[in-house]
Amino acid sequence: MIDETALTEEAEEALAQLWVTEEEKGVAGLPPDEIAGEDREAALRQLREAGLIEDSPGAVSLTEAGKTAGASIIRRERLAERLLTDILNLGESQVAETACKFEHLLRRGIDDEICTLLGHPRFCPHGSPIPPGECCRAGAHSAEKVISSLADLTPGQAGTVAYIHGRRRELMQRMLAMGVVPGAPIALVQTAPSYVFELGQAQLAVDRETAQDIYVRLAARPRAGRHPSAAGWLTKPIRGLRLRRRRGRQ
Ligand SMILES: [Zn+2]
Ligand SMILES: [Zn+2]
Repeated sequence: MIDETALTEEAEEALAQLWVTEEEKGVAGLPPDEIAGEDREAALRQLREAGLIEDSPGAVSLTEAGKTAGASIIRRERLAERLLTDILNLGESQVAETACKFEHLLRRGIDDEICTLLGHPRFCPHGSPIPPGECCRAGAHSAEKVISSLADLTPGQAGTVAYIHGRRRELMQRMLAMGVVPGAPIALVQTAPSYVFELGQAQLAVDRETAQDIYVRLAARPRAGRHPSAAGWLTKPIRGLRLRRRRGRQ
């Protein structure tokens, strides 16, 4: 197993560039002078010494170990993009810039946690496939979702707010102002005629579109069929703020 943490950022970038060229574009190798980076020679030397690339006349290409390491870098980069887009609400140009830096922080192991948190996304925000990790293979056999949209819960299900999907900045700000913040306990009460949820002591009603944008980290399922937080709120009258989207606004 190659210790990827020992690679410089430039070496990782070169490896990622080679991986995309070979594995996604189907081109066998690159002439060394087409590798991006200011200190290309040093990056290639490091990759060569780590056994991740090999030279053929006029080109460098990935070894088997290089393919594995390259996939891992691309996986982290694209997961970082998803994280920045879905959770931190960054625009496209910011994402491109930040994901590069961020990706280097997502070390092996943490990437699986992020992947699980995001529900094992298969594509980055640009539509490029995210190479699957161990967690995705394990996740495929596990019925329990860790994160789910509020709109997909069944009444009685509870958890904590994971994040607000960043499509609508105005909605996000209103939610934050009302205390719908990451970590706040939340439970779905009913789904019709509107989505009513309990947040702390308050009950709030939102439309389906808004409910779809609120992501909940689910609590472990109760053992005896009765939800621990169900006792109080099922009998309470539904009141509290009602949120409606104004027509014509995004
Ligand atoms: Zn992307
Ligand atoms: Zn996964």
